[in-house]
Amino acid sequence: MHNTCYKKLTASFTSIQNDLVVNNSSRKWNCTMVLHFNCPETGKPFETADYSISDNRGIVTNANGDKILDATVMINSPCPHCGNLHKYRADKLACPFSPK
Ligand SMILES: [Zn+2]
Repeated sequence: MHNTCYKKLTASFTSIQNDLVVNNSSRKWNCTMVLHFNCPETGKPFETADYSISDNRGIVTNANGDKILDATVMINSPCPHCGNLHKYRADKLACPFSPK
């Protein structure tokens, strides 16, 4: 994911997170942004907004000095290609802002 795109994504995640802190709802939060995923079984891409984010430790600095979102993204509905529920590291996701 590009750095600038990553900033946009983390900014939107952070605003959602802030909303939840304000509303004091669950630790698991849902996002309506459509993200692109790759099925690890078939290698085929798909996109969905039906996912949730867990293990969110916020934005951290990795060994390279880059700021990354330390969280796990899990799809809520089965993968259209293999029918499994996949989990992804947030920082490994394809950039949702890059042109197709
Ligand atoms: Zn799959």
